Order: sequence, then structure tokens, then C-alpha cells
Amino acid sequence: MATQTNLSTYDLFIDGEMISSAAEERFETVNPATEEAFATVSRAREEDVERAVAAANDALDDWRSMPPQERGRLLNDLAEKIRDQQESLALLETRDNGKPLSHARADVETCARYFEYYAGVADKVHGDSIPLTDEYVDYTVREPLGVTAQIIPWNLPTNIFGRSVAPALATGNTAVVKPAEQTPITAVEIGRLAAEIGLPDGVLNVVPGFGAEAGAPLSEHPDVDGVSFTGSVPTGIEVGKSSIENVTNVHLELGGKSPNVVWPDADIDSAVESTMTGIFANAGQVCSAGSRLVIHEDIKDQFLNELTSRIEGMNIDSGEVDPDMGPLVSEGHFEKVTKYLEIGRSEVGEPLIGGEALDRNGYFVEPTIFTDVDNDMRIAQEEIFGPVLSVIEFSTEEEAMEIANDVDYGLVAGVHTQNMGRAHRFARDVRAGQVYINEWFAGGEETPFGGFKKSGFGREKGLAAIDAYTQVKNVCADITPN
Ligand code: NAD
Repeated sequence: MATQTNLSTYDLFIDGEMISSAAEERFETVNPATEEAFATVSRAREEDVERAVAAANDALDDWRSMPPQERGRLLNDLAEKIRDQQESLALLETRDNGKPLSHARADVETCARYFEYYAGVADKVHGDSIPLTDEYVDYTVREPLGVTAQIIPWNLPTNIFGRSVAPALATGNTAVVKPAEQTPITAVEIGRLAAEIGLPDGVLNVVPGFGAEAGAPLSEHPDVDGVSFTGSVPTGIEVGKSSIENVTNVHLELGGKSPNVVWPDADIDSAVESTMTGIFANAGQVCSAGSRLVIHEDIKDQFLNELTSRIEGMNIDSGEVDPDMGPLVSEGHFEKVTKYLEIGRSEVGEPLIGGEALDRNGYFVEPTIFTDVDNDMRIAQEEIFGPVLSVIEFSTEEEAMEIANDVDYGLVAGVHTQNMGRAHRFARDVRAGQVYINEWFAGGEETPFGGFKKSGFGREKGLAAIDAYTQVKNVCADITPN
């Protein structure tokens, strides 16, 4: 890895200030399109996490008792500020993660939208009144959890920052965010913007660093009252265990291996478009990627011809020139994906298209399709998290359903057909947290999102996130005259 000479520097954001880590250590973050480090970031460890959690604790009482419309106004101000900085944040995200600039811009807009959406929710979180006998008045109140931790992956850093942090703050929690070590910068920058709009000190804190050094002490911290973890299954299990040991509220947003079922009566152009977006957006590094194409035998050849001719026209380049597809995020992840290309070859032979790394600097791999895949193969069961599509053929509805569900994950699923009865039978029977009909990645900030099976539990996005970030208190009063 080469290093540029003039690296930008980023610090921790704790208690309203940008500060160095206690040990004054730093780590480099690498542009995956060039393999060069372009910035250094303060490296949080346990004592920094300790400071961040203490700051979040100190800020909690004032923040939770602030009138909710005022909290909402501050979050709206932050949304506007993020939007104002869309171009600079998007460029940082592209350099850190590798994604095409237009995708990074969309992620920044999504982040702003989350703050805007939950700003509007802040003063609408209320409880119920429960009819008992005439002797009692009974009602529920929704209270914040307290200090919350958001542990974030590298594939959608800005997007998931907004998704996890905005509902936490809107409902009166304070937050300590641990961004992924591969992509720490936009989280720190949003911390800086929060200070600029006057978010009270300590309400939002950001501790960039590595999983074992900063993520683990955060998720294990006894003063953390709620953990939102988005990442891989093995890390999710670790985080879940430490949360259970502390009897702390936790929700896990984990990986996927999602089926995209295409029937002969589908609008083929639209199904091809959805399939391309579903597997090649963000170079396939999306939890809800449509990584298993479950295709009816009658249209398989025609459909694959359409896909390959679309892939041949794809522009793969540095995210900064806004190509169709950028590089993978890091050297380690490039090694993982290229290993799966070898596994695919050993399972089904040469891919229909792709299957190689690009012969240039940067962590680029070709968009790849493996055909004649059996659903029990590794390339059908394991999350590759790269631009690699596994094609599985079916002939009957029962068979399609069985293939769709025969996997450990259950994050999303899609079906393309003009037969609405069939589409809704699929939606009814598939074991997934979100179902797309004649689309992929449908839905926005408003739609609940989360997994069945090994894809996790709990829901973010939409009003469902209010459940994740609040706890219900029941109040019962005896009103009989004394
Ligand atoms: P990862 O599990 O390696 O890391 C996620 C985060 O956890 C990072 O910030 C990391 O530093 C931190 N971490 C690592 N070890 C830790 C520990 N012991 N304790 C606490 N924190 C620790 O995942 P990744 O490779 O960054 O992300 C890719 C995964 O995320 C994929 O499986 C993808 O499907 C999943 N993902 C899921 C969703 C969703 O909404 N369901 C969204 C995006 C990504």
C-alpha cells in the first residue's frame, strides 16, 4: 500500500469536540481505487470509548427532557446541514469506500432524509390508555432507552449512520457511534456538522477505531442501554452475547443471500434492470443484494443473454469518475471475493461472464455470473458480498419457493411476475423481512427493514425503529374516592 504525502486528518468527536485519542494513536484509511492511504484518523480504544459513554450519559437527562419539538427542530437543522454538505460528504465517502459518486450522493441524501423523517416523529411518540375497571386509570408512556451505541459497517456508512442514529436521538436517547475502520470519515464529519448546528455536547459522539479495540468495549459497556449493530453474522453474535450479559436491549441487522425469482410472464426489461441493480449496485456490497437469481427454465437463456450484454457495456472505474461500478472496499475484502470466484469455479466451472480481478491498481473485480448453480452449493448459500450472481433454475412454483427459503438468511426477497396472485403467495410464504414485487431495493426511509432467521432481529427504518429505541412504561392509578 502506498501512502500520499499530505494526508488529511480526522479525530474522534466526543462531548462536542474533535479530540485525539488518549493514546494519540492514528490509523490510515485507504482509497480502494488507488490502494493509497489518503487520510489518518484518531484510533479509539477502551479509554476513549469510556469518555464517549460518560459524555453521552452526562448529556442524557437534559436531552430526554428537552421538549420533543425542539429535539425535532435540531434534527431538522442537522438534516439541512448534511444536505448543504452533500457534495463534500459524497466525495469523502467515495474516497473512503470506493462507490460511484452518484451512489455516494444518494447515500448522503438518504442520511439527511433519515434525520428529517425522525425529526417529524420526535413529537409524535406517545403511549396508550388502557381501559380497566372504573376504579383505575391506566396508561403507557414510551421512554428512551438511555445511552445507545450504533456499530456501523463499511458498505453504506453515511446511510446507516442516519438510519441508526436519527431514530435514537429523536426519541430522546444519546448516541455513541462506532463507524467501520475501513470507512470512518463521514461519521466524524457528521459529528462536526452536529456541533455546528448546536446539538448539545455529548448527545452524539463518534469513536472511529477497530472492532476489537473500540467496538467491543462499546458493546460491552455496562452504561450502554441499547445497542444497534449492523454487520456480519459472526460479529453480530459476539455483540449479542455481550448485550445479553449486560441485559441490554440489542437489535441485529445482519447479512443476506436473497432470492430474486423471475417468471416468464415478467416484464423482462424491468426484471433485467432490477437484477442488474440488485447485484451490481455498490459492487454487490449490499446486505440486501439479490445475489441468487432464481430463474424459470423457459426464459433462462434469453434472460442471461440480456444480462451479459448489459454487463459488457458496464463502465468499471474509480468511484470519482462516477462509473457504473467501483472497486471493492479493501484489500482484505478483495481477497475474500476473489476466493469465492475460485470456489465458484470449483463448484460449477467457468463463469458465464467475468470471474477475474481487473488488471490495474485498486480492488476491482469483474461483474460475474455463475450459471447451473445448485442451491446447496457454497456460492448459493454464503454471502459473497461482491458483484457475483449465482443463477439457479426452477420449473414450478413449489420449487421456486423451496429454493427461495432454503438458506440460513432471510433479509429480503423479490419476485418478478405479472400474476399478482402468484406474487402475493410468494410474499406470504417467503421467510424474509422485506419483499419486492417487480422491483429491487424498493421502499425508503419510511419502510421497516430487518431480518428473519440469521439476518437478525429487530427493525430499523420507518416507525418500527421507534420500538427499537424506546421502552414502554405502564402507569396504573387507583382513583377510587378515599
Ligand atoms: P463486520 O461485522 O466485520 O463489522 C461491522 C462493525 O462491527 C464494524 O464497525 C466493526 O469494526 C465492528 N466490530 C468488529 N468486531 C467487533 C466486536 N468484536 N465487537 C463490536 N464491534 C465489532 O461487518 P462488515 O464486514 O463491516 O459489514 C458487512 C456485513 O454487514 C455484511 O454481512 C452485510 O450483509 C452486513 N450489513 C447488514 C445490513 C442490514 O441492514 N441488515 C446493512 C449493511 C451491511
